[in-house]
Amino acid sequence: METAHIENKKLAIGWFSFTCSEDSTILFTELLNKHFDEWKKLIDFRHIKSLKTKNELKDLDVAFVEGAISSPDQEKEVKEIRENTKYVVAIGQCACTGMPSASRNAFGDEEMDDRIKWYMDNFNYHQKVKKLEDVIKVDDKVEGCPMNVPKFMSVMEKYLKLFNIV
Ligand code: SF4
Repeated sequence: METAHIENKKLAIGWFSFTCSEDSTILFTELLNKHFDEWKKLIDFRHIKSLKTKNELKDLDVAFVEGAISSPDQEKEVKEIRENTKYVVAIGQCACTGMPSASRNAFGDEEMDDRIKWYMDNFNYHQKVKKLEDVIKVDDKVEGCPMNVPKFMSVMEKYLKLFNIV
């Protein structure tokens, strides 16, 4: 059955980064160079700290989350994102699998030198870095280090269609 295209409805999205190198954020920004004119008619960029200062974490349709979760503060924040969005997409390998951000999980005692111990003692980090799915429900994954762009574009298209925007 064909569903009606909804006039003026935009896909409300958020883009969030946790423990990572933010390379997928750079790729997303590059995509905006090419697609912004088309996307601004279809997408409400409601929460993207890397692009704007005024952001709203409320009633998102899709939250794109990059990076692994490495501290209780991050865990709390990502749970709050989950409560305020209908769908969550894990972006990049760190969010999807934890790696490479979770490399320290494999360190033996002999590799935990004073510098690493100092960071662990002085910042509130988890003993183990977690992938996104360890903390919240994830609806879709865009793997790759950084993210696979054709897969990201197909996921974006999927949600634009799901919300009857295109
Ligand atoms: S998946 Fe790769 S590119 Fe993306 S944040 Fe992690 S290390 Fe960086």
